[in-house]
Amino acid sequence: MALTAAERLLQDLGVSEPGEIDLEAIAYHLNAIVQYKPLDGCEARIVGAGERAIISVNNRSGWRRKRFSIAHELGHWHHHKGKRLVCRADDYRPREETSPERVADGYAADLLLPHYLFKPLARQQKRLTFKAVGELADAFSASITATSIRLVEADLFPALVVCHGPNGRKWFARAPMIPRKWFPQTALDAESTAFSVQFGRQDGTANPSKIGGAAWFDRYDADRYEVLEQTLRTGPDETVSLITITDERMMEDDVGSSRRW
Ligand SMILES: [Zn+2]
Repeated sequence: MALTAAERLLQDLGVSEPGEIDLEAIAYHLNAIVQYKPLDGCEARIVGAGERAIISVNNRSGWRRKRFSIAHELGHWHHHKGKRLVCRADDYRPREETSPERVADGYAADLLLPHYLFKPLARQQKRLTFKAVGELADAFSASITATSIRLVEADLFPALVVCHGPNGRKWFARAPMIPRKWFPQTALDAESTAFSVQFGRQDGTANPSKIGGAAWFDRYDADRYEVLEQTLRTGPDETVSLITITDERMMEDDVGSSRRW
């Protein structure tokens, strides 16, 4: 598989284990200095002059958040050098395709969770659970959210990750192998364990559990199938759920319009 710019950089630097991804050293290698200070209204920013840059990171944020912010700003440094950007370094999440923030996020994900190190470790996980996500997140010093998106997008498990807030779905990511007809519901189903985590006091569910597909998918035939769901609280009013498809019939593309001669 072709390497991305960030992955090539890591390989040039001889990075062969997750623990060797030293973002300050990588920034220094790219002529960017990292400084930590209180920032209001944003997590990080980058100011460049010619070939040199200073990355400022909010010193009140957690360690993994800081790492993501530095990697995100290095994404701007790589892709948007010389352009004026109002940066909103946020946690990793799917965004509109054309946004420069998404481009910087993509670079950050490749730097923090490079496929050539991530996939071999992810393949060792037998089941997609938050325990598996947590182990990978620890290995790479990345957030649960970023790691769960990366894991789903790695296409090793037939699964989606869906994020909810009090007003409904905020974003989702889907394994490429899953037919696109399976689109997650906007609102949480009151029968789902995700609902009880989102609106209750629990921090999450310990194991994936079975639930009818209609609780998660907005499609007429969803109630014919069962899926697995597991939910984890990621903020005071935010939850992330892993939805795994276990019924092979759900993986079939629709026979019909596209195959009719
Ligand atoms: Zn940005």
